Amino acid sequence: MSVHVRPAIAGLAAYKPGRSAADLARELGLPEAIKLASNEVAYPPLPSVVAAIAEAACIVNRYPDNGSLALTAALAERFDLPVESLAVGCGSVSLCQQLLQSYTGPGDEVLCAWRSFEAYPLLVTVAGATLRPVPLREHTHDPEAMAAALSGHTRVVFICNPNNPTGTALGTAEMSRLLDAIGPDVLVVIDEAYREFVTDPDIPDGRELMRGRANVCVLRTFSKAYGLAGLRVGYLLSDNPEIATAVRKTYVPFSVSTLAQVAALASLSAEQEMRERCAAVVSERDRVSAVLADLGLPVPRSHANFVWLPLGEDAAGFAGFCEARGVIVRPFAGDGARVTIGRPEENDAFLRATRDWRSA
Ligand code: PMP
Repeated sequence: MSVHVRPAIAGLAAYKPGRSAADLARELGLPEAIKLASNEVAYPPLPSVVAAIAEAACIVNRYPDNGSLALTAALAERFDLPVESLAVGCGSVSLCQQLLQSYTGPGDEVLCAWRSFEAYPLLVTVAGATLRPVPLREHTHDPEAMAAALSGHTRVVFICNPNNPTGTALGTAEMSRLLDAIGPDVLVVIDEAYREFVTDPDIPDGRELMRGRANVCVLRTFSKAYGLAGLRVGYLLSDNPEIATAVRKTYVPFSVSTLAQVAALASLSAEQEMRERCAAVVSERDRVSAVLADLGLPVPRSHANFVWLPLGEDAAGFAGFCEARGVIVRPFAGDGARVTIGRPEENDAFLRATRDWRSA
């Protein structure tokens, strides 16, 4: 007799850690390597946020506030929503998992574009539901194909806007058409992990789209624009308090740490600095995109803090080439490579590697 893992879980690939920048630097004998692989911002948290974390370090003998009450209240004020319509989670990835656990199970289908955020398939499997991936069209969500893929079994639709890893985004008209095509009994999750990097006024704010639509929620995170990826805190917004209530029921108790809560709270008071940092990232993103186009590698227009090189079969080789020059990018074998926008000198190192690859 032995213990049996659920077949769906046994079928998942085991976790394999990626190579760290420190390991790569050691291997190459460089003072440091550059990691442009995980869509983090390259800047440390703001001093006011570091101070809040340091102060809270002295009280971690206590459990965190299980309801993240102060943070929830601050978010409710910031977004002009009742606290009941909000939920905080251990990163927005955790909120994705909670939503799936609350709304799906065996026999249910979850629709998402593909390629999109790589955690979706994994989390759908963990929930015991079935993924229905809908191919992107020109690296962008295909609203018509997604509407056509809806079935009587569809319970949840993920729309990642801007999309990870392609950086593309649906405009207001397309997004509204897609939402209108989805029945009121299907939960729509608009994943806006990269919202703060959007500058195009035609890309809708999910908060506008969710108004009056009881089946729609929006996910945001402190991991990207706010630079708190290592602390794990994200949040859900909805016009329908039932969604937040359902999500709180599948919350792993105490999973948003005290440090995460105080850092997020302090970050909300430093929104202006966050916006300035995002503007710097956006200007670098547009510079990098223009240089890549000049090198004969046009990238789809990115609305996020990364760019997508649709290199097909060359993706893995390209990533290996960059890595040998101390720059870690994120390949998706046979499809493309995603490159996070870093500091200007890091982006220059990436562009140098790319230029060398083009002329190799
Ligand atoms: N959604 C998308 C589209 C993402 O790219 C990420 C992070 N890679 C997340 C959600 C999760 O972010 P976090 O859990 O750090 O909030």
